Amino acid sequence: MKTIYLDHSATTPVDPEVVQAMLPFFTERYGNASSIHHAGRDAYDAMGAARESVASLIGASPDEIYFTGGGTESDNLAIQGYAGHPVNRKRGKHIITSKIEHHAVLHTCQFLERQRGHRVTYCGVDGNGVIDLDELAASIADDTILISVMLANNEVGTIEPLREIRRIVGDRPIAIHTDAVQALGEMDIDVNELGVDMMTLSAHKVYGPKGVGALYIRRGTRVGPIMHGGGHERRKRPGTENVPGIVGFGKACELLARDGAAVRERVARLRDRLVEGVMARVDDVVLNGHPTRRIPRNASLCFRGCEGEALLLHLDMAGICASSGSACTSQSLEPSHVLAAMGVPIEIAHGVLRLTLGKGTTEEEIDYTVDTLTSVVDKIRGISAALGV
Ligand SMILES: *Cc1c(COP(=O)(O)O)cnc(C)c1O
Repeated sequence: MKTIYLDHSATTPVDPEVVQAMLPFFTERYGNASSIHHAGRDAYDAMGAARESVASLIGASPDEIYFTGGGTESDNLAIQGYAGHPVNRKRGKHIITSKIEHHAVLHTCQFLERQRGHRVTYCGVDGNGVIDLDELAASIADDTILISVMLANNEVGTIEPLREIRRIVGDRPIAIHTDAVQALGEMDIDVNELGVDMMTLSAHKVYGPKGVGALYIRRGTRVGPIMHGGGHERRKRPGTENVPGIVGFGKACELLARDGAAVRERVARLRDRLVEGVMARVDDVVLNGHPTRRIPRNASLCFRGCEGEALLLHLDMAGICASSGSACTSQSLEPSHVLAAMGVPIEIAHGVLRLTLGKGTTEEEIDYTVDTLTSVVDKIRGISAALGV
């Protein structure tokens, strides 16, 4: 059976061009980027080129890019590293975020509340998953030092109004961090246009390798290391650099700069075909997230009277890889914190299905998915009706 992979927000296949770019750095170009000799310099230069590719994709300069072990680590470095910096600790202990952040942000904020004496405001969102800007503005206090709001949500795909947040903050000394892991490649991103001071990126959501990411830190923003060791990444992230991974991330960003816009357009068309196809053939289904301000690859749907887990299992048997929203919480049966914050009733939230398309997705795959989904939903609803549940 052929695999139809519609879970690109969980991870993506590494692009063959990315693999080709990485391969020499496992074998003949194996130097440690900190070494003085020519093998070390070769690795160091390759990393520099990757840093330029990542930086230019988001309108940053290369010296503002810090490579990390992925999106989760970048979120931790941004929030813990900023809030924990001695100067910032003295200035205040209040952080503002949203209720729909990725757990890498939410759990880091909860850690700071429990262990470090910080105060965190979790702003609500509307029914489309857009942050409540009035609540955000009203929660800014004298001791607010940091606002962390994602650029695009991983479960429902809604794009958040970061530029408005910058306008609200004005020139107050409050840093703005955004987790842009789901936005990268899905929209044009410019750190200066958005007015953010820190931005989290991850390679494996954009056809790069797993276990490598970056944190953009605007020049002058005080962020200390959260791990301790050598002086790598200009003293912010110790540890011998993952040179093949970083080179791969750089290549993935180059490919986004080259093909990103065309891919987006194609993916958005296929996503619309998917949503319209399902809506036309299945009753009692709603599209979660903002109808237009959403990333092209995301279709998050709630099927009334269907258990999301049952949908996933039936789709899997038909070769289709989908998700209930977040790969990180799929082991638990807790309803999604994102849908809960959006006010989606629990019985509807249980019927959530997230389909996320990618550059390899075809029209045939979409049509097969619509057909399969239609019959699977009928079947599950039939069984539920027969059981009287
Ligand atoms: C996947 C994801 C992360 C975590 O990135 P990793 O590289 O897997 O650690 C963080 N934030 C968002 C929004 C994500 O989708």
